[in-house]
Amino acid sequence: MASLTTMTHHDAGDATEAPDWSKHGPATRAIHAGSEPDAATGAVVPPVYLTSTYKQDGVGGLRGGYEYSRSANPTRTALETALAAAELGERAFAFASGLAAEDVLLRSVLAPGDHLVIPDDAYGGTYRLIARVLAPWGIEHTAVDTTSPAAVAAAVRPTTRAIWVETPSNPLLGISPLTLLAGIARDADALLVVDNTFASPALQLPLTLGADAVVHSTTKYIGGHSDVVGGALVLREGVRLPGGNPGPTGSGSLLDAVAFHQNAAGAVAGPFDAWLTLRGLKTLGVRMAQHSRNAAAVAEFLAAHPVVEHVIYPGLPDHPGHDVAATQMSGFGGMVSMRVGSEARALEVCDRTRVFTLGESLGGVESLIEHPARMTHASVAGSALEVPADLVRLSVGIEDVADLLADLERALA
Ligand SMILES: *Cc1c(COP(=O)(O)O)cnc(C)c1O
Repeated sequence: MASLTTMTHHDAGDATEAPDWSKHGPATRAIHAGSEPDAATGAVVPPVYLTSTYKQDGVGGLRGGYEYSRSANPTRTALETALAAAELGERAFAFASGLAAEDVLLRSVLAPGDHLVIPDDAYGGTYRLIARVLAPWGIEHTAVDTTSPAAVAAAVRPTTRAIWVETPSNPLLGISPLTLLAGIARDADALLVVDNTFASPALQLPLTLGADAVVHSTTKYIGGHSDVVGGALVLREGVRLPGGNPGPTGSGSLLDAVAFHQNAAGAVAGPFDAWLTLRGLKTLGVRMAQHSRNAAAVAEFLAAHPVVEHVIYPGLPDHPGHDVAATQMSGFGGMVSMRVGSEARALEVCDRTRVFTLGESLGGVESLIEHPARMTHASVAGSALEVPADLVRLSVGIEDVADLLADLERALA
């Protein structure tokens, strides 16, 4: 981030280049990238720049490139720098929500007549955006089981510009093999886009496995405290728009197209939202480790419980994606789903927990429970994305695990 004031002689003498954080480990990157102490005051935490505009030193004389806060704001720059470092990408863009980020990516890549392959258990809001907002503008899609590379390859058309994947998926926690899908996308001159919300960069780095772009709802694990809605795009270095598309700037670069659309459409993260999200990101590593430990204990407990018919958790050896998850993730995450035999029983379990709070969303420090068929996935009832009525989804928080197990024991009794 640019210095905003004149340095003293002493400061100038001591000034050193900021380290190249991309050469450091994931926890160090999350804590330091974008958060270099403020050059003017030494503030260790980036300030919340609640300003819409910036004084120019003569017409066009911008300090640090800042002109108007839709185009750029220093707090948002801090978050975007940190997100790019976290995902080992070339650049990140922060938005007002995960869906705003998705909308910009899709509009940057697709034109009327283009086609997209999407998961048959995509996040409901993603499906709604593609099927109800973009379809009327001429964007076509095919929903397939993206855990199967053969199914994805069979769905690709000459007009396919992107393959969209969520791994682990929501709420069935399917695991899609990213390296294989990246090969299919490359052969098709299409982008591989990974919604990395469930794993987070602490557990999975899709851009290092061949993905071209990563999407986040930072509302979830990155924010991590259920107190802010936000989204992000992170791009792999040098990605070109597919199909020879020159993009709005004529450069053919995905980064240029996304930067243009972020500013042109304007659904940016506000400075306070960016600041909260950056604060969350700094503890992502320790939180994900504890989410994963607690979720593993919950999954093992549920697997041994007589009322539970089936537990879905990528860390369990009987999960069909376990081996792939073990190769592309450094932990199995905090989401656990279970089937309890009937919708009535599922609703009863959701009503009876006390530590697990009944609510939508996921990824916060507190444990949440929900009934996907009637809550998060109600909008996909009757479509290819419909989920079983006896399914219960848990977002396992970082409370004391004994309290979580006792709560589930009581609710299932
Ligand atoms: C929540 C979520 C989104 C949408 O993000 P918002 O911040 O709610 O707009 C997209 N993908 C996944 C996997 C999500 O869980």
